[in-house]
Amino acid sequence: MKSVLSLSVISAMLMVTASSLAALYGDPPDETHPWQVHDMRRERPAVVTPGKQVGDAPADAVILFDGTDLSKWEADKREKGEPSKWRIVNGVLESVKGAGYIRTRDGFGDCQLHVEWSTPVKVEGNSQGRGNSGVFLMGIYEVQVLDCYNNDTYPDGQAGSVYGQNPPLVNVCRGPGEWQSYDIIFRQPRLQDGKLVRPGYLTVIQNGVVVQDHWVLEGPTGHMGRARLQAHAEKQPFKIQDHGNPVRFRNIWIRELPEPSDGGLKGPYTDPAAVQAKREETAAKVRQEAEAASDPIQKVQLLMESLAYEKRSAIQTRVEQMLNDYFAPLKDAGQDAVDAKKGQIMALRGSINYLTQKRIVPRDFGPKQTVDALVKQYKLDERR
Ligand code: MG
Repeated sequence: MKSVLSLSVISAMLMVTASSLAALYGDPPDETHPWQVHDMRRERPAVVTPGKQVGDAPADAVILFDGTDLSKWEADKREKGEPSKWRIVNGVLESVKGAGYIRTRDGFGDCQLHVEWSTPVKVEGNSQGRGNSGVFLMGIYEVQVLDCYNNDTYPDGQAGSVYGQNPPLVNVCRGPGEWQSYDIIFRQPRLQDGKLVRPGYLTVIQNGVVVQDHWVLEGPTGHMGRARLQAHAEKQPFKIQDHGNPVRFRNIWIRELPEPSDGGLKGPYTDPAAVQAKREETAAKVRQEAEAASDPIQKVQLLMESLAYEKRSAIQTRVEQMLNDYFAPLKDAGQDAVDAKKGQIMALRGSINYLTQKRIVPRDFGPKQTVDALVKQYKLDERR
């Protein structure tokens, strides 16, 4: 218990340090990172209230089916808006033989999807004929639903498979009639002018166990044929298959996943130009804050901070001038006057040290020598 307490005390102390040195603290931005380590300027994630239990929908999910109605769904027909013949029985959605696939009215793209399913209690058929259904991301990428409890079939078509492409890592199926869950993380393949610019990925967790680990989609799934990547709309309805077996579903919700933060096609911040653009954007914001600051110390601190995001010789020269103007009269100001400004001086020295140590300004940056001489002259780093 003692060690836990002291750890929390230490981390609280670190927090204080972090917030007081927030501007220039961790390693600076570089070619692949627009942010410092522990950067307080970094965008905060949205606050989302999670579900009560694992598997319950969080506050930002779109509830596709909660047992009450099929208002989010329609028949998978050429015409839009035709009601599906799938049934709700005791709050559970059941596929109806011959009714065809059921699809969402709205389209979805990259997403996190939760769905619970149960194959028939009464075991009928073999292989692909036993409790077959399937969840189709964007209507074309199937994660197979099948009764695979003591039921052999081709591995790339068993429950948890990306149908026709990749078997699940393990068979973690529960018995017929039992409720099972899929938690799916899906990224669609992106093509531009017929060329793949970002692969699509499927991660599937079945009953709490990883069965697909960031599988690179080869294309829309299909029967017998080798998959090929195809361009398609960015959002398409999610579908569930009617394969002739009365498979049941409940608690279906989806969360759309945002684009990677470079807005695009190559993944987050692998594009040096995107990193540079983000750094320049942050630097511009910081310089704007600097221009608005009335306190000259705050102004120069912000200008120094801006250099960590974007080096600019004009800004560096200005900073140098401002620091020299501040330090010059202190040389002969006397111990009491300098002591009164010790907090400011040491804070400026912290930023100057950061900039020189991280090679953002040259090692022989003028104000570095000046502030070090001042600290030495007035013994500011000694206890007196
Ligand atoms: Mg199927």
